[in-house]
Amino acid sequence: MHFEYSRMRRLLAYFNPIARLGNKHYSILLSTTITLLFMISIEIYAHIIAKDPEVVGLPALFIFPPLIIYFSFRDGIRGGIAATIVTVIYYGYIINTGNITPAEKSTQWETAFILGLIYLILAYIIGWLKQTIDIHIEQETDLGRRLQAIVEQLPVGVIITNSSGQVMLVNKQLEDMLHIQIPYGYHILRNNTFSALQPLAKTLKTGKTVTDLEKTVNREGKSLTVKVHTSAIHNKEGKVIAVASIIHDITQQKELEIRKDDFINMASHELRSPLTSMKLYLEVLENLTEQYHDKRVTTTLTSIKDQTERLQDIVNDLLDVSRLHTGKMIIEKEILRIDQLVFQVVEELQVTIQHHAITIVRIQPLTVLADKVRISQVLTNLITNAAKYSPGGTPIEIAVEKKDVYVSVQVTDYGIGIAKDQHKKIFDRLYQVTDSQEKTFPGLGMGLYISKEIIKLHKGTIGVRSTKGSGSTFYFRIPLFS
Ligand code: ADP
Repeated sequence: MHFEYSRMRRLLAYFNPIARLGNKHYSILLSTTITLLFMISIEIYAHIIAKDPEVVGLPALFIFPPLIIYFSFRDGIRGGIAATIVTVIYYGYIINTGNITPAEKSTQWETAFILGLIYLILAYIIGWLKQTIDIHIEQETDLGRRLQAIVEQLPVGVIITNSSGQVMLVNKQLEDMLHIQIPYGYHILRNNTFSALQPLAKTLKTGKTVTDLEKTVNREGKSLTVKVHTSAIHNKEGKVIAVASIIHDITQQKELEIRKDDFINMASHELRSPLTSMKLYLEVLENLTEQYHDKRVTTTLTSIKDQTERLQDIVNDLLDVSRLHTGKMIIEKEILRIDQLVFQVVEELQVTIQHHAITIVRIQPLTVLADKVRISQVLTNLITNAAKYSPGGTPIEIAVEKKDVYVSVQVTDYGIGIAKDQHKKIFDRLYQVTDSQEKTFPGLGMGLYISKEIIKLHKGTIGVRSTKGSGSTFYFRIPLFS
């Protein structure tokens, strides 16, 4: 039954000139044969059924022009001209065999000649139109094929739908990656059950671009991490004509990152214990050498202690970065007076920061629900940065104020400042400003990233206001406890 149906469809498509648009196979044989068949049928009708050879004139006049139009449209100029030639020959045959006077004959020949000319022009124009359309379709198909070839070469999965969500193009990488088969014409909005294609459905509905969305998808029981980017393609008038989605398998990359984080975590833990011991032994050594009152020994020991502390800070930062990345940073909140905490931190830091006067310019008694150690860490980072990036020994000013339902803590310095385009980036992981002036300051770019994440875990915000060359104000806000 199915076989019959498809055969029928193929047969209809063979005769349907619209279905053959783009098909450059132009047949002369079919147009000649069919026109001849019509001619024979008319003759049979006239001689056997009507038994009057004179009746052929009218059908011949009405049947052949549509045939010429049909074959010009189906088989181009060639098909149209072949049908015209057969028609004109038949017209000649009718005139010659007709029972008419020589004068009538010559008039009929004239008419046949004019009709033949009109048919020829008609066949040429329609045939030419058909062939031009075919060339355009071929070019478009070529473009489509080229696009398909490029898309097939890409190392990522690609799927393109039209504006109503029907799949126009899908590459093998996508099908292999997700172990799915998406047929051409598959309707994303009606059938979408694949979670990796949900961003595509979203863009189809909203027109909004989805960038770098990480998704965990299930592939035959295995979990796969993919990065999805989806965007709408517009025409010149801004109308959405297609939507494309690029899907990237980042499972291996993710696994590698996890292994890297595990390694950093382990290495930092391993480094921490010998460093703590070193610091303890240094204190012992300090006590032992105190009796000699040798300045060189004391300064050397102080330098070793400072460097050990610096190493400890780096190791602790590394540990925090890996904890944050793996979601293992623990925040232990308690009700505390932020103003008192700020006083305490400033007092402690002023001992080590000797070249800058740290002044509290505004302060209010305010209570928050926060992790004391972590908030101190953020404040310490902001104040040490303020000192580090102010080589001239300029003052550092602290302000603690209520802002709506938040506590705002500000650290202002009059140092080198930060260019506007760097304001957001400096809070990224391992980001450091790399201009010639900044390069002279040591650091690994972890402090502000850790601070930002700690403040985020307190449901707060952190930011900077700064102008290059005239200093910076770093601030963070966390909710007030009420
Ligand atoms: P680190 O100081 O270890 O490089 P941070 O994450 O603390 O890392 O800071 C990131 C970058 O932001 C620094 O490299 C520096 O370029 C810039 N920065 C931070 N604080 C200041 C400041 N107070 N003044 C000028 N630049 C700053």
